[in-house]
Order: sequence, then C-alpha cells, then structure tokens
Amino acid sequence: MCGSGATGGEDRPSAASGGRLISEKADYYDVLGVSRDAGPEEIKRAYRKGALKYHPDRNPDDPEAEARFKEMAEAYEVLSDPQKRQRYDRYGHAGLAGVGVHDFGHMGVEDIFSMFEDIFAGTPFGGRHAGFGRRGARGVDLQTTVELTLAEVVTGAERTLEFERRDFCDECGGSGAAPGSEKRTCATCGGYGKVEQSTGFGILLGRVVTACPTCSGRGTLVVTPCKGCSGTGRAPKRRVLTVKIPPGIYDGQSVALRGEGEPSEDGTGRGDLHCYVRVAEHPFLERSRNDLVCRLPISFTQAALGAKIEVPTLTGKADLKIPRGAQHGQVFKLAGMGLPDLRSGRKGDELVQVLIEIPRKLNAEQEKLLRQFAETEDKTVLPESSGFFDKLVDYFSGQDE
Ligand SMILES: [Zn+2]
Ligand SMILES: [Zn+2]
Repeated sequence: MCGSGATGGEDRPSAASGGRLISEKADYYDVLGVSRDAGPEEIKRAYRKGALKYHPDRNPDDPEAEARFKEMAEAYEVLSDPQKRQRYDRYGHAGLAGVGVHDFGHMGVEDIFSMFEDIFAGTPFGGRHAGFGRRGARGVDLQTTVELTLAEVVTGAERTLEFERRDFCDECGGSGAAPGSEKRTCATCGGYGKVEQSTGFGILLGRVVTACPTCSGRGTLVVTPCKGCSGTGRAPKRRVLTVKIPPGIYDGQSVALRGEGEPSEDGTGRGDLHCYVRVAEHPFLERSRNDLVCRLPISFTQAALGAKIEVPTLTGKADLKIPRGAQHGQVFKLAGMGLPDLRSGRKGDELVQVLIEIPRKLNAEQEKLLRQFAETEDKTVLPESSGFFDKLVDYFSGQDE
C-alpha cells in the first residue's frame, strides 16, 4: 500500500527533465485568464474556451498546446470546487497539499474530456468521449504534495495523507443498483463490457475493441438505481494513508502509490496517487546534486593566519580548520556530510566555500597596524583617509566662494 520507488531519474540537477517543479506552477487565475473574483459561470466559460483552443486534435504534434490543455484542466478542477478554491485563495498552491487533485500531467486527453463531459456538450468534441473516457482496467490518477526539510532528505520521511477520492459507493458496493434489486445484462455488448468499433479516417480505417459505451464496460445495466449514489456506483470518500519518502529524494520528484487513485469505471482496477515532494529551503545550506554547499564569510585575518571555525551542518555544527593563506572562494570539504544518493545511499559531501570579508571600518589601532603591514609589502596605499577627505572637502568648499 505504501509505495516506494521515486520517479524522475537520479541525475537531475534541476527538475527540468522530469516535469515542472510544484513551486514553478503558474497562478490558476492567470492560466484561465480570469480575475480573482470571477464567478463559477465565468470560470467555466473560460475553461471551455481555452480547452477547445488548446485541444490536441486542433494542435497536432504541439506539446506546448497539450501542456496548456492539461494546465487549464488542473486550474479548472481547483477553481470550480468552492472548497479547493478557498484553500488556493488563502494559501496558494501550498494550500492544496494533502488535497486530492487529479494528476492531469499523467492523464490522457480523452480522460480529461470525459471528466468534464458536461462542459463540452454541444462543442465539436462533446459527446464523442462519453462512455469511453474512463476506459480499460485503470482508473484515474490523483496527485498530492508533501513538504520535507533538507534534514529529512537524509533520513527519509513518513507522512500521513488525507484526501477525498471518487470511490465505490458503500451502499451498493459500487454496482449502482439498489441493494436487493436486479441488474439487467447490457444488450449492446451482451454482457462482455467491450464492443468492436470502427476507427480512423481514410486509409487508416480499422476496427478496435473498446469499452462498451452503453454500460461503460460493466456488462450490466442498473434497473433500480441505488439511492446513495444515484446509480453511478461511486461516491466521494475520505482516505487516510501513510507515504514513505525515500532518503535522497529531490525537490519536484514524486513517489507513486500504486492503486491509490480512483477506481476504473468497470471497477476492476485503480489509478495511482502521485505524491510530489517539495524540499524546503535551508537557511545556510544549498543542495548541489548530493552535496551541500555552505557559503561562509571569514575575516581577512582568519584567511591569512588560519583559523578553526564552526560551520552549520544538517545535524548541527562541525569544526572546520581553515589553513593559513586561504583564498577567497576556496572550497573545503566535510566528507560524507552531504545527502545520500537516492539509489546507492552513498553520501555526498558538505562543501564549505569561504568568502573573505574586508572590514568596512578600522579603529585607530587597527589602521596603524595595517599601515605598518603595508610598508612591509612595498605597495602604494592611499594616504590616511580622514585627512585626505577633510582636505578634499576644504578644497571643494573653497571653490564655491
Ligand atoms: Zn450506490
Ligand atoms: Zn455494454
């Protein structure tokens, strides 16, 4: 039940290869091109207009259009649901963490259309998908988000997810028929749940087997509909489960919980739940593959004379010895203090880069010592600043008169 096996590939310095980061998601109102106070009808109109414009049939071989199409479906799902919209308005994308939202990125165009069937009635695409959308033995995928700290990336983590999904109705067990009532064998498919259909255009004419459009692949038809679900066999149901996030996971990757999506129309299979991971920023440490980078300011005397300093690590702090003559930008390694590799578990390092800071102000004693030091270097330095600038001020004020 608890899935494992993160997807997305281990060698990914950025999320670009495995889809967009959750944090890069566009604003849902912008996606639909409506204002934040738009009413339900306006949102529906905007979605219908956009979905028809970006429908992959009208934009063949255009992955950009398909991405927009799916993005709009996601925006519509959230903004058309008063509860989800309220959470989104208050907390943004983060507010939807733990809320079941369909994973449109992994869904087929047909499935998306069938979800919002009512919206497309009367359009060139309406009706065509009815009954075929939730096809086969796999139901619809869902997605959710969890947030981890960088320290939890080292250990891995467990999270409890609580979400609502369209599930089998408790009263009828998913059949849609009132308890005790008869069910009738579907005449269209003779109870097989599948029919042969003509498909394709021109020379590609052929025949394929698809789910029966009359009974949605169930093989039977309801005579007396169940009151609990109006004969659909499905009802919203809360689900609580635990997800294990493996050590080494990257921001933007997901863990798939197989079979935790919605049941297929014929009830024989389920989609998956994709749990996307966000890794919160650390105040001092930045991830670079499996290494951690810490940029540490030190004084120029520490750099010149050497020093032992404390550096922040994921577990607290560690001592680092800066050798004499350390240079600005030089990198020192704390071996094995990085993050574990997602596959091998081998730990990366913490890389400490020293940034040498020059004092902005010197007291009289420090200035005297530095001037003595400069003399030993045989280098030209500016005259004492206060005196120099005082003279300069005098010079300028003299010019005004
Ligand atoms: Zn029912
Ligand atoms: Zn049938």
